[in-house]
Amino acid sequence: MTVTRENKIEQESTKREFYHLIINGEKVKSSTGETIKTYNPATGELIAEVAKASKEDANNAVAAARDAFDNGKWKKYPIGRRAQVLNKISAIMRTRFNEIVELEILDTGKSLHAAQGQVTQAIEDFEFYAGAIVGHRGTVNNVPGQFHNYTEKEPVGVCAQIIPWNYPLMMAAWKVAPAIAVGCSVIVKPASLTPLTAIILGEICLEAGVPAGVVNVIPGSGADVGNFLVEHPKVDKVAFTGSTPIGKDIMGKASQTLKRVTLELGGKSPSLVFEDADIDAAVDGSLFGIFYNSGQSCEARSRLYVHEDIYDEFMSKFVEKTKKLQLGNPFDKTTHMGAIIDQGQLDTIDGYVQSAKKEGAEILAGGNVAKPEGYENGYWYEPTIISNVNHDMSIVKEEIFGPVVVVMKFKDEKEAIRLANDTEFGLGSAVWSKDGARATRVANQIQAGIVMINCPFSAFPGTPFGGYKQSGFGRELCIETLDLYSETKSILSYYGSRPLNPFGL
Ligand code: NAP
Ligand code: MG
Repeated sequence: MTVTRENKIEQESTKREFYHLIINGEKVKSSTGETIKTYNPATGELIAEVAKASKEDANNAVAAARDAFDNGKWKKYPIGRRAQVLNKISAIMRTRFNEIVELEILDTGKSLHAAQGQVTQAIEDFEFYAGAIVGHRGTVNNVPGQFHNYTEKEPVGVCAQIIPWNYPLMMAAWKVAPAIAVGCSVIVKPASLTPLTAIILGEICLEAGVPAGVVNVIPGSGADVGNFLVEHPKVDKVAFTGSTPIGKDIMGKASQTLKRVTLELGGKSPSLVFEDADIDAAVDGSLFGIFYNSGQSCEARSRLYVHEDIYDEFMSKFVEKTKKLQLGNPFDKTTHMGAIIDQGQLDTIDGYVQSAKKEGAEILAGGNVAKPEGYENGYWYEPTIISNVNHDMSIVKEEIFGPVVVVMKFKDEKEAIRLANDTEFGLGSAVWSKDGARATRVANQIQAGIVMINCPFSAFPGTPFGGYKQSGFGRELCIETLDLYSETKSILSYYGSRPLNPFGL
């Protein structure tokens, strides 16, 4: 892609047959010549081949990032100039919006409205951090005596950023934007299932003026090159979004070199619908809360607790609307739910549902693999509601990462809070009540990083996103993320006229 003299952008088609790695500002093939094939989950069709990074490539990417950080100019740019480049990344993404949306839909099988929302947010993330970085600064501190203390925020260094497949571009943006805003260099390792839009983001960063080596993108196996980055002594920080077991593994391995670690992991988020809720709003919000992105969201509200007095009314509306959800052509704007990422994930989802059935659970909607007309070769699951469950069942305890919600009744506020917190996770949660005092009281007692009150949405640029308990730690998408890509340096100086002689010699 080039900018002409008239300042018009001549677009290189985003959709190609082959995608390169991006290392040190160059598009390169894998050192081994190996490729990853990436498929459209809605149809099962091959989209493209992507260079598959080897350990040698990953090592080259670390060397490039290290050199760009240690010897390069990016971190020394005036903040306003870095902000300008971030804004340019957003501007180019806006110009290429439809192409990027198309590519994200092809690579993930997600619906048009979901992809449009996520690409929009990725664009806004760069704009947000272009603004936020200007106010990111140290402090001046009171020290007794003739001492002056101030702090500097310095970029942490070379960051490995490991991305999941559920929001390929948005998760890359959540990580790349704050890191480069601060002045770090990054090596992005997209999920093998969905590498395409992260590569496009890497190209756009170069186009916007990010110097070579600051943003490297290396699709490859998590167990191989992902792990290699985590163990690499020249990587200073790992930011990971993915499953809790891999997060634990990464934290253990990163301890060997005391890397800084940010972990955004799994969830089993509760939604509490009180008897004084606006029932229609709670029904619509709960539908979105679980079935958005086909339930493949870490903060999907997959445990739904409804007060016993309104349970029947709520459930009859919730089931009726769930049955109206449209599956099928992801490019059709009336499609509510796209595909499941692959056969393995589809089998996992169905496995949970079938074993819950055997344990006596009742299926109120869905419960089966779906075959939308014309999309029989893709991976689809019916939006599924399950009742007659208890907290000992794996369908209630474990993250399914699919369009499956379990529903239970509660009697009072105390029981609702107890049930909400009876989980090893702590990412999202929702409270539906028209009583503001109650909603606040309940929100204060929920052990989760995010509480949505009468609100289906979980995050916008600026709102902290991250977990309590085994959902991880560190917050993304917000001002404090900048601190997670920084070191604080404390500078203490003595300004007395007489030299100090602490030993008195
Ligand atoms: P995953 O299997 O944990 O993989 C996530 C990423 O880690 C992928 O890029 C993967 O590479 C890589 N990886 C795998 N093994 C690795 C290792 N040993 N060392 C380093 N990297 C490794 O998760 P997923 O199945 O892609 O994503 C779904 C999970 O992510 C869910 O549990 C979900 O809750 C969580 N999630 C959390 C958030 C959040 O913000 N908290 C957001 C989105 C998703 P490969 O693709 O090559 O395996
Ligand atoms: Mg794909």
